[in-house]
Amino acid sequence: MRILVTGGAGFIGSHLVEALLARGDEVTVLDNLSTGRRGNLAAVADHPGLRFVEGDVRDAQRLVGALAGAEAVFHLAAHVGVRWIVRHSLESLRNNVIGTMTLLDEVARRGLRLVLFSSSEVYGKGRGEPLDERDDLAIGAPSVARWSYATGKAVDEALALAYHAERGLPVTIVRCFNTCGPRQTDRFGMVLPTFIRQALAATPLTVHGDGRQTRCFSYVGDVVRGALMLHALPAAHGEIFNVGNDEEVAIIDLARKIVALTGSTSTIQVVPYAQVFGEAFEDIRRRVPALEKIRAFVGYEPRVALDELLQLTVASFRARGAAPVAPAETAATRSLAP
Ligand code: UDP
Repeated sequence: MRILVTGGAGFIGSHLVEALLARGDEVTVLDNLSTGRRGNLAAVADHPGLRFVEGDVRDAQRLVGALAGAEAVFHLAAHVGVRWIVRHSLESLRNNVIGTMTLLDEVARRGLRLVLFSSSEVYGKGRGEPLDERDDLAIGAPSVARWSYATGKAVDEALALAYHAERGLPVTIVRCFNTCGPRQTDRFGMVLPTFIRQALAATPLTVHGDGRQTRCFSYVGDVVRGALMLHALPAAHGEIFNVGNDEEVAIIDLARKIVALTGSTSTIQVVPYAQVFGEAFEDIRRRVPALEKIRAFVGYEPRVALDELLQLTVASFRARGAAPVAPAETAATRSLAP
């Protein structure tokens, strides 16, 4: 197939592009390189099936050019990372909402099949139970900048479902849960690459809050495989799916695992949320996906367990040579560029 991947130079996008090329698809990448990098596509840079268009999805003209000949679209272009979002809520909302709206309009006009990448962040605070696609969203107040990402993504989802219902757009929504693996950067504050970089540099691992908050880290290859399985299934149109891994770990235990795995001399340093994000911040205490729906629809199972994911990611950091640690995360470093 001829496929457009928006955000294809990003972390998840670049893994998806590699998978599509490997199965024989022709791929156009549209990426404004705001958070993505050409280097993420280095392994396939000379592939005859790859076309790269530098541009923003909000730029309808650029988008139309990138869509030429496309039969299907994967939409991943978005600003990401809680630390980045908290400091750039306006740009994040504008990019994620206007970008998706522009894209949906053009894709619906052409009747193309679309997979829209959303996020587990839309569940907000949750109920302490595994998160089910039918759950109410528990997003906090708009005065807490953290929720601007979830708000934007929830609008994206609602828009996509409205295009499905009213204009017949064949769209499937995937909600990713803490996707990790080789090539993920720590520039936007995600915990796993941050901890690995800190451990390899023998500096303290910065655990926010009491460290008892939990997450389920998903291997990027599992997420890409899940999205491709859903993409092939007409019954998935108009549906939302969690994709990821349901193996839960507390952040403090993640820090301990990484120290042990790397053999680092790093200590573990507990940092109050306010020191990192300012006073108006709320975290998610427990985030676990319910995977029953994606199992039932396509037989998806995650294949890479947490320990293997950590090994793979540490090995990739070592292979590329650990760069200096990002500046200390304090409220004073708010102007930190992506
Ligand atoms: N976190 C941490 N230290 C860091 C970065 C993140 O303890 O250096 C915590 C963060 O506060 C959250 C969890 O790790 O509780 C996951 O953070 P991340 O930003 O990776 O993803 P989120 O699930 O919050 O979107």
